[in-house]
Amino acid sequence: AGLTCAEMLGRRGFKAIVLEKDNQIGGQIQLADKPPKKEKLGWSFEDMRTNAEKFGAEIHLNTEATPEVIASYNPYAVVVATGACAVKPRSIEGVNLENVYTTTQILSGEVKLENKKVALIGSGMTGLETAELLVEGGNKVTIVEMADTLAPGTWFQHLDDIVPKLDAKGTQYILSHKLNSIDEKGIVIEPVKLDKNRKPVSQGKPYHVDADAVVLSLGARSVNSLAKELEGKVKNLYVIGDAKKVGRIADATREAYDVAIHVIK
Ligand SMILES: Cc1cc2nc3c(=O)[nH]c(=O)nc-3n(C[C@H](O)[C@H](O)[C@H](O)COP(=O)(O)OP(=O)(O)OC[C@H]3O[C@@H](n4cnc5c(N)ncnc54)[C@H](O)[C@@H]3O)c2cc1C
Repeated sequence: AGLTCAEMLGRRGFKAIVLEKDNQIGGQIQLADKPPKKEKLGWSFEDMRTNAEKFGAEIHLNTEATPEVIASYNPYAVVVATGACAVKPRSIEGVNLENVYTTTQILSGEVKLENKKVALIGSGMTGLETAELLVEGGNKVTIVEMADTLAPGTWFQHLDDIVPKLDAKGTQYILSHKLNSIDEKGIVIEPVKLDKNRKPVSQGKPYHVDADAVVLSLGARSVNSLAKELEGKVKNLYVIGDAKKVGRIADATREAYDVAIHVIK
């Protein structure tokens, strides 16, 4: 979102300064392009960088945007596009054990699991794509999902593509089960049914499933602490993309375009 906004502002004659705390551009697309056959998604941020720089944007890597750093530029407007990060609920017992990872750690390559028994919690598209990467590494994956279907709400074309590949590698699915806790030897899960508010209602006794490693794919939450810190301190403050509401690339870039073209006067 940040790079698209910078390009569009540049087209309007503004000078855009992009501050990126990481040592590379791309944000979550750097994770999204890691599962098998998704590498071309990485072309998108290279394209965004080329266009942003073509219209005069300066991109500063390894530069965390803080209220002080931002003030040093005395900007006319501040657009916060700080994205989202994987959820790791503190309420789940054992979540900080050494055998527990997020999809971010797996997809970024920070953690490499090979030939392990892996319990993957959450069967959204990120969960399934991470499972695809894990089975390629020789891992035996068991996917635990609270709903009674895999990846509820996902386009069936995605499932038709990915599920046969997971099946071929012996992936197991445990639907209608909620993760209760994690220990060094695996997970404790409980049979549930979702009520009309999608709250889990117990349907039986919790039981243990063995696993060497547990990978959490429990969704993402907006990273918006910077936006909160800046409220009332800078003029013309805008929050866009996943920092405002977790969505997809099209949502983030569309919002970037709208703010740059229609909102900033
Ligand atoms: C595994 C995975 C797969 C996905 N697959 C798809 C897909 O196939 N199709 C699709 O449409 N969407 C997909 N998405 C969602 C998509 O990647 C996001 O919706 C999109 O990247 C959001 O863009 P953004 O610019 O708002 O945030 P991000 O991409 O998160 O970018 C935010 C950037 O801000 C930086 N930042 C944060 N705080 C600061 C700070 N204080 N100072 C400086 N920099 C900071 C971060 O380092 C990051 O580079 C996927 C997401 C994940 C995690």
